[in-house]
Amino acid sequence: MDMTFSPADAAFREEVRDFLADNLPQHLRDGARRTPGVFVEPDIGMEWHRILYRKGWVAPHWPKADGGTGWTPTQKFIFDKECALAGAPALAILGLRLVGPVICEFGTPEQKARFLPGILSGDDYWCQGYSEPGSGSDLASLKTSAVLDNGVYTVNGSKIWTTHAHHADWIFALVRTDPNVKKQAGISFLLLPMDQPGIEVTPIHSMSGDHEVNAVFFTDAKTDENNRIGEEGAGWGIAKFLLENERGGSCFAPRLIQSIALLEELACTQPSGTNGAIAHDPRFRDRLARARLQAEALEVTELRILAELAKGRAPGPQTSLVKLLGSNIGQEVDTLRLELLGNDALQLPLERPLYGNEAPEPIGSELAQNAMGRYLNNRASTIFGGSDEVQKNIIAKTVLGL
Ligand SMILES: Cc1cc2nc3c(=O)[nH]c(=O)nc-3n(C[C@H](O)[C@H](O)[C@H](O)COP(=O)(O)OP(=O)(O)OC[C@H]3O[C@@H](n4cnc5c(N)ncnc54)[C@H](O)[C@@H]3O)c2cc1C
Repeated sequence: MDMTFSPADAAFREEVRDFLADNLPQHLRDGARRTPGVFVEPDIGMEWHRILYRKGWVAPHWPKADGGTGWTPTQKFIFDKECALAGAPALAILGLRLVGPVICEFGTPEQKARFLPGILSGDDYWCQGYSEPGSGSDLASLKTSAVLDNGVYTVNGSKIWTTHAHHADWIFALVRTDPNVKKQAGISFLLLPMDQPGIEVTPIHSMSGDHEVNAVFFTDAKTDENNRIGEEGAGWGIAKFLLENERGGSCFAPRLIQSIALLEELACTQPSGTNGAIAHDPRFRDRLARARLQAEALEVTELRILAELAKGRAPGPQTSLVKLLGSNIGQEVDTLRLELLGNDALQLPLERPLYGNEAPEPIGSELAQNAMGRYLNNRASTIFGGSDEVQKNIIAKTVLGL
C-alpha cells in the first residue's frame, strides 16, 4: 500500500486547508472544543453544516447525482483529517451519514426530491428511532408496531436513547409491520414527522447532567405510506446498510491523534507532585505513548479501508475493528486527561453551554472545565452504534471464523 499522497491529492489538501483557514470561525472551534457532550450541539454543528453546504462540501459520502462531492475515498479522508486537525465541529451524522445515504440508495425519485434537499441544506434535523427498551443489541426483536390503513400508517410503541429527538423535525424508525413472520422479515423502515400529537419526547439526562438522548413515545402517531423507504418487510436489510455506514463512516484516528498531541503538550507543564512535570513520570509516559501508537496504528487501518474503497470493494468487518479500537482509545484519552489535570478535573459544572459569553468561569483551565463531563459522557461510546461485545462477536465470526 502506497502511503504517500499523489500530487493531485496534495494539491487538494492545500485547497481544503485554505478553505478551513478562511471559513472556519473561531467561535465554532471554541464551541466544538468546549462541548462536553458526545454530540456537538446543533447551534454549533448546524452553523458549520451551512457553511459547508454553501461551498457544496457538506455530503462527501453521497453519490454526486444526489448532492455529493464526487470525491475519491482518499479526498474524503483528507477532508475529514484536515477538519479534525483544524478543530472543526463534527457534523451531526443523523441526516448526512445515516438516513441520507439510505434515501440515496433505496428511496424513490419522489422521496429523494422530498427529503434530500432539506438534509443537505440543514433545514430538516433528523433523529434515529432504532433502539427500544429490551431491543438494543437484539434489535430485530423490536416491538413498535405500524398498521397500514387507507395509505396511512398508525404507529404505536416507544423508542429509547434517541439522540437529539428534542431538536428533530423527522425521525427514521424501524417498526414491526408483520408480527406473524420471522422477526427480521416483519420490519419496515418509516419516516415520521416529529411535530404531531401522537409523538411525545421525554429527556434522559446523562451522568454529567447533559441532555442529549431521549425516550420517544408513539400513540397512534401517523405517517403517509409514501414515507416508507423500500418495500414493506424490507426494513431489516436497510437497517443493516445504515449500521455499516454508522460504524464505518467515522474517521477516528485524526481526532484522537490531535487530542493526544494536546495531552503530550500538557504533560510537559503539569506538575507531577514528586518529580517535576508529569511527562517525567515513566508510568504516565508509557500510557501516553501506548495511546499514541494505538491511534497511529488505527490510522493505518483506516487507510487500509480507504484503499479497499478506492478499489471499489466494501470495507467489511474492518469497520467493526475501527469502531471497537477508536472508542476504546478515546476512553483511554479521556482517562489520561483527567489524571493529568488532577484536582482541577473534579469540577462538573451543570450550566450549559460551556462556550460563548454566558459560559461559567472555569476553575483552572477550559480544558479542565469539561474534562469530567467528556469522560462521563464518552463512556457511552463503547455502547452506542453496537457495543464492544457486539463488535467482538462480529470480528469473531467474520474474521476469525469462530
Ligand atoms: C449516548 C447514546 C446515544 C444513543 N443514540 C441512539 C439513537 O440515536 N438511536 C437509537 O436507536 N439508539 C441509540 N442508542 C442506543 C444504542 O444503540 C444501544 O444502547 C445499544 O445498541 C445497546 O443496546 P442496549 O442499551 O439495549 O443494551 P443491551 O443490548 O441490553 O446490552 C447490555 C449489555 O449486554 C451485552 N450484550 C448484548 N448482547 C450480547 C451478545 N450477543 N453477546 C455478548 N454481549 C452482549 C452488551 O454488550 C451490553 O454490555 C444510544 C445509546 C447511547 C448510550
